[in-house]
Order: sequence, then structure tokens, then C-alpha cells
Amino acid sequence: MQKLDHYIPIVGENEISELKLIAQKLAGKKIVNVNSTSTGGGVAEILNRMIPLLKDMGVDASWEVIKGGEKFFDVTKKFHNALHGKKESIAPEDYECYSETVEQNYENISLESDILFIHDPQPAALVKERKKHDNRWVWRCHIDLSERDEQLWNFLKPLVERYDAAVFSAPAFAQELLTPQVLIAPSIDPLSDKNKELPQDTINEVVSRFKINPERPIVTQVSRFDYLKDPVGVIQAYKMVKPYVDCQLVLAGGSAADDPEGAKVLADVQEEAGNDPDIFILNLPPTSHIEINALQRASTIILQKSLKEGFGLTVAEGLWKGKPVIAGAVGGIPLQITHKYSGILTHSVEGTAYWLKQLLQSPDYAKKLGENGKEHVRNNFLLTRHLRDYLLLFLSLYHPDKSLIYL
Ligand code: UDP
Repeated sequence: MQKLDHYIPIVGENEISELKLIAQKLAGKKIVNVNSTSTGGGVAEILNRMIPLLKDMGVDASWEVIKGGEKFFDVTKKFHNALHGKKESIAPEDYECYSETVEQNYENISLESDILFIHDPQPAALVKERKKHDNRWVWRCHIDLSERDEQLWNFLKPLVERYDAAVFSAPAFAQELLTPQVLIAPSIDPLSDKNKELPQDTINEVVSRFKINPERPIVTQVSRFDYLKDPVGVIQAYKMVKPYVDCQLVLAGGSAADDPEGAKVLADVQEEAGNDPDIFILNLPPTSHIEINALQRASTIILQKSLKEGFGLTVAEGLWKGKPVIAGAVGGIPLQITHKYSGILTHSVEGTAYWLKQLLQSPDYAKKLGENGKEHVRNNFLLTRHLRDYLLLFLSLYHPDKSLIYL
């Protein structure tokens, strides 16, 4: 039995047989994914699950990570923030460091593969080497570009225009480009350790290991310690609610190998939390999938108070567990949450606090939001749909002039 067949009880037989049919058409093609970290963050989360499944379907997919020094990752974190609309000063030597580091990676990456699937800005400049190879290049952007820094975009745009296609997560992120653009939302894997069903004993064990009280409401945000996830705003909202509802707050985070800002954000978070024994700041290793799954399942409410967000896998993860999710109305989050139907969208600390209190005091309403959210994720944001979109995109690269491809 193929691994893919295990998804039949969740998404149905038709979806799986269609996937197998499309995959057959890509037999023999070598597809290399390139990003900048093997651990931490949503891109690594998805690739970790997607690559083995593609291989199992007979597609020759692999994953490579570009290497860079401390300076390179400082620069690319500035790029990340600036593309999300944050003011950053990017100096000419930053651009030089970026280009030189990517060039040093030419030797390490399998640039002769049939399809180069390049994720985010860090490895985007690899495309400068494409003249030498007769293959297809796709740039997959996981960032919300709707308020991107103009100067930085002027630097990146000519690179993106050397690709055969650019993939964005939401319509608002699309750009004026010569390159054809495709909209594909990310996904979660319902069978991963992060999302699979867990026995109640495992959930209880994790909650007790972190000394969280299972008898009182638990409000959780899972995120890398990053200013754009607004962990300090989460604590401020919790503090506004605490006098009315005796809840606990869990901030479960960790770092990503390509994110140098984590330690500073964590220090700010610890300062804002003070010595409140009901705030649990958990700095977890990147392998803590069962722990995060258990914490999400043990939670009364999940928060994702992001200020900017490409998609926010943590929202889908919370919804898939049937939890009411309160999240910032930014980036890809509104794709996942229809306000007051499949969760709650907020725009401020005060708004988050207001809805947190409301939902803690209205468990039936909160439960309904979670149920609706789960079905929305089942229909739109599971790995099988994501795989189908990618495979169809890859196929279309070999039929550039056709609007219809017969399988
Ligand atoms: N995550 C994790 N450990 C952490 C923090 C986050 O495993 O300490 C996971 C989280 O469960 C999710 C992914 O990392 O699967 C984060 O993806 P998301 O799209 O929410 O945000 P990103 O970090 O990519 O900005």
C-alpha cells in the first residue's frame, strides 16, 4: 500500500486516484526544491512532508538547502521583513553579500535537474545560472508581498522574471510581472506528528510535563519568536482578559536556522511576561511536533496574532484540531478564517482581548467556529490538494502554449 492511500479516509478515493494519474505523467522528471533552512518555519514543515510523499508517488523529488554565513542570514532576514512591508535599511554591501553567497552555492545545488523549485528570496538568485541548463524554473514565494519595499523589489523582480512561473499564496500577493503567476495556497499534513490524532494520555502527559493546569482554560500561540508574530501583543491581550477569566497563556516557539532575530524577541517576550506563573514561554527544539500537536489539542483557544503572515500554517493546524482560532486579519490568514464563521479575525491588541474574553465565555459558539474551521481546512488546505496543484503546475511547464492538457 502506498503512503498516499492512507489519505483516502480523510479526503476520499477520487482525490487520491487523480493524484496518482497526474504523478504518472511526471515520471522520470527530477524535481529539486531549494530553500534556506531544513528546520523551523512553515516552508521546512511542508517540504518535510511533501518530498517523501512525492517520492512514494514515483516522482523524483528532492530537497536541497543553500548555505550562508551569519551576515547572509542577517541580510535575508532584512529582505524578509522588508518584503513584508517593514522599514529596513538595506545597504549596497547587503545586496553584494546576498549575490555573492548565492553564487557560492552554484556548485552545491543540482542546477541541472528538470525542474528547479526555488522557495523564497534567499536562493532566488540561483536562477542567474539557468542559461547553462535546459530546464524549468519556478519561484515559490511564501511571503505577503502586498506592501513590499519598492527598492528591494526592484532588485528581486528581474531575477523573478527569469523564472518560468512564480507561485504566490493569495491573490493580494500577485505582482506586475512578465512571468506567469500561479496562486497556490500552502497546506498541512493531517497524518504528520504535528497534526495526527493523539491519544488523550499523550495530551495529558505533555500538559503535565510543562506544568500547565488542564482544569483551567489554556490559550496558546505557536510561533517562532518573531516580531511579525506579535508575541508581545499576545501577552498584552491576555493581561486584559485575565481579570475576567482565570486563563493560562502558552507561547510555544522555537527558532529557525535562517532566522537570527529569535533570541532578541524571546528576551522581549520574557520581559513582557514578568513573573506571571500562568504564562508559559516554551522555547522548544525543532523536533517537538508531538508536543505542539498536544498543546494545540489541549488548548481552549488558539491565537495567531500576526502583524504580517504569508499564510500561517499554525492557523490551519489549530482549525484542523477543531479549535476556535483568533488571528490577525493579515496576509494569508483570511483565506483560512471567515470572520465569525470559521474563526475570528482581529486588527489590534484590544480586538484580540475582546474576542478572547467573548469566546472563553461562550464555549458553544467557540466550538461551532472550530467545527466550521476544520471542514474548511479539510476542503482547502490539506497536503493532497497542495500536491495536486504543484503537480499540475509542473505538467503545465511542459505545455506552455496550451490552455487545456488531456491526462
Ligand atoms: N513550529 C514548530 N515549532 C515552533 C514554532 C513553530 O514546529 O517552535 C511550526 C508550526 O507548528 C508550523 C510552522 O512551524 O507548522 C510555522 O509555519 P507558519 O506558516 O505558521 O509560520 P512561519 O514560521 O513559516 O512564518
